[in-house]
Amino acid sequence: MLLILAMLTAAAPDYSQHVATQRKKYGAAIADLAVVVEPPFVVWGDAGDRQVQQSAEQTVRWAVKHLEAEFFARQPAAIYDIFLFRDATSYQAHAKAMWNESPGTPYGYASSEHRALVMNIATGGGTLVHELVHPYFAANFPAVPTWLNEGLASLFEQSDERDGKMIGRTNWRLAGLNEGLKNRQVLPFAKLVATTDATFRDDDEAVHYAQARYLMLYLQEQQLLRPFIRRVLEQQRTDPTGGTALRQTLGEEGWKRLDAAFCKWVPTLKFP
Ligand SMILES: [Zn+2]
Repeated sequence: MLLILAMLTAAAPDYSQHVATQRKKYGAAIADLAVVVEPPFVVWGDAGDRQVQQSAEQTVRWAVKHLEAEFFARQPAAIYDIFLFRDATSYQAHAKAMWNESPGTPYGYASSEHRALVMNIATGGGTLVHELVHPYFAANFPAVPTWLNEGLASLFEQSDERDGKMIGRTNWRLAGLNEGLKNRQVLPFAKLVATTDATFRDDDEAVHYAQARYLMLYLQEQQLLRPFIRRVLEQQRTDPTGGTALRQTLGEEGWKRLDAAFCKWVPTLKFP
């Protein structure tokens, strides 16, 4: 009986119950937030009802539709909350009041512990699309390596549609990547895919983010991004770093050729 109940709950989450539970749990810390249900997410925010509604119905709905149709078969296993704060002060204050946390980034972050995406929406809708990728990886590749998780998430910080499909475009991370190439901070790809969460987030973190992001763009521009993600998800048990899937996707192009081609390609990109 319990099992049946649990299965029913999983099949049809009760969003109004979830909203009531969160209202009770966070109390005064979220009393100022408007809320909009946009399955499988619940969107909260303090920039006014209209802004919250717009973010939910435009950005979240659009990204969910494309992420599910083009990349990820499985939805996040339970409801995730998205908290959109109107500026840096509100973002910091709410993170403190809700979880006693001080965000390590000015944009936003995904917390699997709280099943929440938390962000300063003043930094733009791109942050929201970036963070939305994380619960999808968590549901479809629980042990996803950081380089892959952040690479795809960062790709969609600047997103658009081409032939009905979601694509990433060049963005502000390009300047740092060109700088990183000059200063020889860009890693051989065989090394990038072997980074742990800690080594990815070392002193060269910004370059690693940019390198992983532009690798995704490089694959996208050769129509290889979707086949790569499909392969990496299929092979996750035997290929935990994604390195084998990447090499297989590139075919003839081994690590050395990928390194050389990438270094030549990046300086041809333009932003803005
Ligand atoms: Zn991220």
